[in-house]
Amino acid sequence: MNYLISQYDAVKTRVDNAQSRSPYGQQCTLIAVSKTHPAQELKVLYDHGCRIFGENKVQELVEKYEVLPKDIQWHLIGHLQRNKVKYIIDKVEMIHSVDSLRLAEEISKEAVKHQRTVKILLEVNVAGEESKFGYTPEEVLAEVPSIAALDGIEVCGLMTIAPFVENAEENRGFFAKLRQLSVDIMQKNIDNVSMNVLSMGMTGDFEVAIEEGATMVRVGTAIFGARDYSQRVK
Ligand SMILES: *Cc1c(COP(=O)(O)O)cnc(C)c1O
Repeated sequence: MNYLISQYDAVKTRVDNAQSRSPYGQQCTLIAVSKTHPAQELKVLYDHGCRIFGENKVQELVEKYEVLPKDIQWHLIGHLQRNKVKYIIDKVEMIHSVDSLRLAEEISKEAVKHQRTVKILLEVNVAGEESKFGYTPEEVLAEVPSIAALDGIEVCGLMTIAPFVENAEENRGFFAKLRQLSVDIMQKNIDNVSMNVLSMGMTGDFEVAIEEGATMVRVGTAIFGARDYSQRVK
């Protein structure tokens, strides 16, 4: 499984290079998106130094959490149902996919119960795609104050899943829009809200996202190869 190490290193180099081209001078964190891939593959990258993994299903995250070293930082990047919050609340470093006040309230409730503060991002559907979860830019601006007021939650920034496109340049405008939205929110000076994190960019477009200010990219396929959903943990 040495190919995993070389693919991871190649992505890391591309992240570093894109970062040096970015006019925003940000640091960008690479999240290795390991969904559908077995724990042994994550362990290969762990032994190589990778500590940051992203999963989009609660059960899969929990199963891998149980068998892998405890100093891994787990990022929940997929749609989250309220009744599943309790299973991950003490396991995740950050939840990227908060898309309603009701979900934020549930996270808050569980976080308080576990006496911890959970870092969250608000998911924005910047391209307005029908099939995608997430707030519209207008909704997120209106809802940030109510979410920020909840106990046990720290609003750290925004996340978006850009459209699937052949040419990454087509998504540049959406990434720029998410960044501008984070600036607009910052200017409101809301207590308990920082906009330090912009989670945007995947295998097909992460370099463009970094050039537009991404501080976290979520890369799966370029590191692990294509996903086989038939093998997926249910
Ligand atoms: C699967 C997934 C990714 C990674 O996608 P790749 O194109 O394989 O890099 C990133 N973000 C989210 C939310 C995902 O579900």
